[in-house]
Amino acid sequence: MAIEFELTAQQQALLEMARSLARDVLRPISLEADRKKCFPEELLLNLQRFGVGAGGSTLRGVTGGEEPSERDPKRPRHTHRTAVVGAEELAWGDAALPLSLPGPGLGGPPMQSHGTPAQRERFFAPFKREGELHWGAYGLTEPGAGSDVSGIATTCRRDGDHWVLNGRKCFITNGARADWVVIFATVDRSLGRAGHRAFVVEKGTPGFSVGRIEDKLGLRASETAELVLDDCRVPAENLLGGEARYEGSSEGFLAAMKTFDATRPLVGAMAIGIGRASYERARDLLKARYVLSRPVPRYGALRAKLAEMKARLDAARMLVWRAAWMADLGLPNAREASMAKAAGGGAAVQVCADAIELVGADGCATEGDDAFLEKWFRDIKVYDIFEGTGHIQRIVIARRLLPGLRAF
Ligand SMILES: Cc1cc2nc3c(=O)[nH]c(=O)nc-3n(C[C@H](O)[C@H](O)[C@H](O)COP(=O)(O)OP(=O)(O)OC[C@H]3O[C@@H](n4cnc5c(N)ncnc54)[C@H](O)[C@@H]3O)c2cc1C
Repeated sequence: MAIEFELTAQQQALLEMARSLARDVLRPISLEADRKKCFPEELLLNLQRFGVGAGGSTLRGVTGGEEPSERDPKRPRHTHRTAVVGAEELAWGDAALPLSLPGPGLGGPPMQSHGTPAQRERFFAPFKREGELHWGAYGLTEPGAGSDVSGIATTCRRDGDHWVLNGRKCFITNGARADWVVIFATVDRSLGRAGHRAFVVEKGTPGFSVGRIEDKLGLRASETAELVLDDCRVPAENLLGGEARYEGSSEGFLAAMKTFDATRPLVGAMAIGIGRASYERARDLLKARYVLSRPVPRYGALRAKLAEMKARLDAARMLVWRAAWMADLGLPNAREASMAKAAGGGAAVQVCADAIELVGADGCATEGDDAFLEKWFRDIKVYDIFEGTGHIQRIVIARRLLPGLRAF
């Protein structure tokens, strides 16, 4: 199978725009945003004006309403490839920013793949409005169910022309500020995946509230919230995809999983952006100290480590680009998306730790310019956890390598 890695002229232009945005705008405010745990609204509005964010932004991989069947198979989209290229650059500037940009966020892919045309029209509409900040979110994780998606305990039961939801969701990105959240619940836990349903729960729905805002190790400028559903009454028309979609199938679970085929390469790309930032800073510090050119054996080991870091990141990027390319062609890519996420997260976690080891005590500084290595070390850990930990990615890959062996 031939793989198309060459960037189009448009992608090249986007890459250059994202690179200068990351260097000149994001990096200078990154440490302060981390301390204040937010980005200035003015910045988000300005980014939106440049097409970074809501309303079909290519950087977030949001297509906004197009039916998969409407695409011309002879003219593959470049959405996913463009998104991973942009995401790596933005994360290089600040890794919390791509998660904080206005737009449907993780709620976008299930809305796109499982929403009815009327739902897509209605719920994507706010993101197309200029000059306003709107977010969507994705509520799957619960205190007792993260990796084990089939174990979600949030319940839903039909009551006339409404559904009644009860439960708690945790660590939901942009959950407190979102106009709507795709919430996953079960009609009956004993049914496992077949019992799952996905709902669009809108801000202000009676019984729907924000619990605490999570205080995190890394990505502190990205808001993560606990959401509470207490006899929350959701109109029947907000059942994602409509009633018929769930009959005798695991469509609720599939809506949750399908999201990841689109977003895992993106997360891998962002992880690589953080890893690359760490690698470059360690390299520059070593260069500034003339360490790399001195004929001391110990310094040879540092050079070798630097080479290893670069190769690790470049190899992971190839896997990310392959998964994105497959998504653009509409090819099933669950295995490749997991490889991309596992490789990107794993490589970058290692590189961020290596970078601190290479520069010694400077890598632990929490003030001044050196504080970046410490920040990236904190940020990257999260990239290896959300959207499925490294362990879970390896399970997804292995299941596809050993079809039929479902008992692990
Ligand atoms: C910053 C941040 C943002 C997030 N945003 C969202 C969001 O927007 N929406 C949302 O729904 N969730 C979100 N999450 C939650 C995230 O997806 C979960 O944290 C993640 O899926 C892991 O689940 P867990 O934390 O419950 O860990 P667990 O599932 O409890 O895992 C703990 C450990 O056990 C390992 N493990 C678990 N099961 C297995 C297994 N079968 N085999 C081997 N090892 C296993 C894991 O790899 C991990 O090392 C976010 C999390 C963070 C930190």
